[in-house]
Amino acid sequence: MIGFNKPYMTGKELWNIAVAHSNSHLAGDGDFTKQCQGWLEQRTGCRKALLTHSCTAALEMAAILVDIQPGDEVILPSFTFVSTANAFVLRGGVPVFVDIRPDTLNLDETKIEAAITARTRAIVPVHYGGVGCEMDVIMAIAGRHGILVIEDAAQGIMSTYRCRPLGSIGHLGTFSFHETKNIISGEGGALLINDPALAERAEIVREKGTNRSQFFRGQVDKYTWVDIGSSYLPGEIIAAFLWAQMEEADAITARRLALWDRYHAAFEPLERAGRARRPIISDGCRHNAHLYYLLLRDLADRTAFIEAMNQADINCVFHYVPLHSSPRGLQVGRAAGELPVTSDLADRLVRLPLWLGLEEQQGRVIEAVGRVLQE
Ligand SMILES: *Cc1c(COP(=O)(O)O)cnc(C)c1O
Repeated sequence: MIGFNKPYMTGKELWNIAVAHSNSHLAGDGDFTKQCQGWLEQRTGCRKALLTHSCTAALEMAAILVDIQPGDEVILPSFTFVSTANAFVLRGGVPVFVDIRPDTLNLDETKIEAAITARTRAIVPVHYGGVGCEMDVIMAIAGRHGILVIEDAAQGIMSTYRCRPLGSIGHLGTFSFHETKNIISGEGGALLINDPALAERAEIVREKGTNRSQFFRGQVDKYTWVDIGSSYLPGEIIAAFLWAQMEEADAITARRLALWDRYHAAFEPLERAGRARRPIISDGCRHNAHLYYLLLRDLADRTAFIEAMNQADINCVFHYVPLHSSPRGLQVGRAAGELPVTSDLADRLVRLPLWLGLEEQQGRVIEAVGRVLQE
């Protein structure tokens, strides 16, 4: 069976964990955390990077930092993972779902302005598959309306939009290091703070609402409760694991891109024959080969495709079930008009296995896809 995902290990993770163990620093914010945060700051140019337990946790911090109050609206795609919406709903926010573009499957920037109301506080573009949203347009809209932008760059590490790293363009950005992402620590994430006005409070929110970080830097002489917050920082064992991955981030990305490019070249004839549509990378974007998908003709085709691939011992999956028509989404959010692209593409998209180590078996996947779609 060729699995859909297989987490990649560099081989240095256990060594780093042994170092953290012998340092006897197991709580958060030790040397490995600092190295990881420094790497993120250097690689993305963000003002400050903070490791978190997950991208979900980073999004929850973002919702606190942009001060979402009950009834405040947040504009986001319906075609995304639940956390993009749930983080804001936890603070009483109302997700306002906007349709996606048919080419990149990213938030359709031409439909954002019509969804803005007096209650809109934030826009959350999701960089689907590590391909950048139209950030110049989105930032200009946000600027005109005085609202903040939080990039859900869960899938976007090592990608750029017009030469700027994803996650470093909005006021805040979030990464995921979940084992299904490119750079992993099992569970894990980071909050990137680009707006300097949010940096000090971000540390406080991450440290249970205390000024502990300032205290350890000697900036205040006692450490006390100053704001709301929670415990969003991972322990050093996670950071030690993550550091091994960050050190190999360039090589990991290059290998993923080679797998992606091989799929893309192999499926060109299928696209020409009208059997499947391949991913589209917008001009000015460098992507990170986070995922490879095909768009099939309809839901019945996709169901049959996944079944036939399973018969060939190859596990393919789909996502996302749109949030605007989900049970919770219907209760707490609202769609900005009809979302025809979301509803259509969510039924037709299928993801193929893409993981380091697939190289030797990728030919089998390509052969099976071709055979199943010729039938
Ligand atoms: C994976 C993912 C998340 C959640 O990441 P976790 O680290 O698992 O919390 C959020 N948004 C998007 C778009 C994702 O792909």
